[in-house]
Amino acid sequence: MGPRAVGPRAVGPEAVGPRAGETGAEPPRVTAARLGGQGVVGLALSFVDNAGIARVKGVPIARLADAAEQGVGMSPVFDTFLVDDSTTQGRWLGGPDGDLRLFPDLGRAVALAAQPGWAWAPADRYHQDGRPYAACQRQFAARTVARAAGHGLRLLAAYEVEWTVRREDGSLPTGGPAYGLHRLTDLSDYLRDLLTALDEQGLAVQQLHPEYAPGQFEVSVAAEDPVAAADTTVLVRHTVRAVSAAHGLRASFAPAVAPGGVGNGAHLHVSLWREGRNLLTGGPGRHGLREEGEAFLAGVLAELPALLAIGAPSPASYLRLVPSHWAGAHHCWGPENREAALRLVPGLPGRPETANAEVKCFDGAANPYLAVGAVIAAGLAGIEAGAVLPEEVGGDPSDRPGVPRLPQSLPESLAAFEASEVLREALGEIAHDTFAAVRRAEAQLLAGLDPEALIDATRWRY
Ligand code: GLU
Ligand code: MG
Repeated sequence: MGPRAVGPRAVGPEAVGPRAGETGAEPPRVTAARLGGQGVVGLALSFVDNAGIARVKGVPIARLADAAEQGVGMSPVFDTFLVDDSTTQGRWLGGPDGDLRLFPDLGRAVALAAQPGWAWAPADRYHQDGRPYAACQRQFAARTVARAAGHGLRLLAAYEVEWTVRREDGSLPTGGPAYGLHRLTDLSDYLRDLLTALDEQGLAVQQLHPEYAPGQFEVSVAAEDPVAAADTTVLVRHTVRAVSAAHGLRASFAPAVAPGGVGNGAHLHVSLWREGRNLLTGGPGRHGLREEGEAFLAGVLAELPALLAIGAPSPASYLRLVPSHWAGAHHCWGPENREAALRLVPGLPGRPETANAEVKCFDGAANPYLAVGAVIAAGLAGIEAGAVLPEEVGGDPSDRPGVPRLPQSLPESLAAFEASEVLREALGEIAHDTFAAVRRAEAQLLAGLDPEALIDATRWRY
């Protein structure tokens, strides 16, 4: 099996529809000419590793067609990188040997509005002989989407992006209150430039608003095919970073930014569809759930302790994941409950397309491809088992004895991950083992640090 003429592409069903700015099956040379016409001189090809960090290779635009056809070399060692750029060793991967080919998905190639002269595309990773690389996180997400499609199911997904800004000297650029209009005036030009850049890149922004923590903001985007949603969140964060830099600011997407404070979540919204019908609404179940929709959510809920190793993968994640911080620290679900790890959003009257479920316990250290793929795999396991949801929880579960907490440390969620047959099977032995090795090594690397030191070690890494 060798690469196709235009390079391998992630498998998976068609995306929701043509995206703004999407080029579809445009030949690479046409993409190169189009981007060149927009003043692009370099293409950044990125993927997100097991540490949750986007890594990149760049090529001059003259080499774009070559990169699309032959791929770009990159070592597989990055799959064993930790948050501090040191490396570990898994059973299958790690060490200096070998090389892979990075293939840009030119359907997502876009000129970067906040980085004139640059374009970006997400990349899939293949072996040199064209075989898909077992630890490619983006192809994992695509495989689970394809599995769902095999059951006649389609998913829509979106990540919320939360971040906090600081000036270069560490001071806050706004003293405005939580959700305060005040913050919009303090940082008016910055936020305008951000909206402009996101829009120019074809991203469908739904909301931009100040969040709870000092200097914290959030942007949400429209739901789309799950792989596209993960690509989008990489691009949104890259854009936030670039616009921040242009305004002399630094953006942190880290789970925790101040001891005891509210952190940055990366909540994942998903909805499940069969034959154009949203399975999370319009049915006979609680809050209109249809049977399959409920089984999917029950599957996700059951796997949440194991999913946390992916969705809250840093030792610092557990500084954020505490009760009464809207982070979803309790192992329960509830309609419109911002303290439940799994919040059902029943949808607006007469608008079935708005019903979805929000995995609230995930944060910005997570690899978005692994996180969405793993959630889908857990949901499909729920459907296969005909799972049902337990009793819902309303209000703050801290006030209700008997509602269990999710794991409170990385070693705890890692133990659940290692025991999860659902995730082992979905990821495959190599990806499962390598991811666990990275988590184990990060837990050791950062063990014993007090909250301040743990935050310092992770604040600017994601
Ligand atoms: N910042 C909160 C978190 O850590 C979430 C706030 C919200 O509900 O949007 O997840
Ligand atoms: Mg929020």
